[in-house]
Amino acid sequence: CGIVAYVGQQEALPIIIKGLKRLEYRGYDSAGVALLTKDGLGVYKKKGKVSELENHLVEFADLSSKIGIGHTRWATHGEPNDVNAHPHYSASEKFAMIHNGIIENYDVLKKDLLNKGYVFHSETDSEVFIKFIEDIFVNNHCSLEEAVRLALHKIVGAYAIVIVNKEEPDTLIAARKGSPLVIGVGQDEYFLASDATPIIEYTNQVVYLDDYEIAVIRDNQLQIKTIENVETNPYINQLELEL
Ligand code: GLU
Repeated sequence: CGIVAYVGQQEALPIIIKGLKRLEYRGYDSAGVALLTKDGLGVYKKKGKVSELENHLVEFADLSSKIGIGHTRWATHGEPNDVNAHPHYSASEKFAMIHNGIIENYDVLKKDLLNKGYVFHSETDSEVFIKFIEDIFVNNHCSLEEAVRLALHKIVGAYAIVIVNKEEPDTLIAARKGSPLVIGVGQDEYFLASDATPIIEYTNQVVYLDDYEIAVIRDNQLQIKTIENVETNPYINQLELEL
């Protein structure tokens, strides 16, 4: 339902929580974040309001991170509960992903992954999606962005996704088809969101990702490629919204 992600020089968590609250008007049943702290890639999620997620986060001493992803879920596959909330880890827990939309062929992909020995914790189509990407990543010995690109050729349905990778602390990978995704371009920082409302207080420069495009934000650079691996020039729009 709602997506907020951040990479830059500021603390990611307060920006993400504020952004998720700005997206509350869309409706949702649970909320979660993934942060890359000094202890590794942590996923924190709760059924209910963003404020309940905040109460849960208070239990953790140090959530300092300059990169993170956050999500408010409107359940389509699997009841609203803590486990089905996003983000979802890949099997190795190296990657965490948030997903808006519906994967129509998730049951076929899931059967295949179950046969290969993958274990699923949630009932969501989204967990199938990230595990499918990781399976390609492992088998092809390729980069995560290449694995995402190859996976998107097999995914049927609608999605806006953002992935964080434990081994690339300066990198966010995002893609979309049928679900909106906006990239806010700040000063040495980037914001991603399902609409511009969480972004406008930080920057008025935004790039709207198109269907079948993959955005890689790495080392403070934004690169956009189609799923055919053709690089496109990001078009920066100037927002003229009143705060
Ligand atoms: N289909 C996914 C789920 O049920 C994502 C739903 C959403 O867009 O929030 O978890």
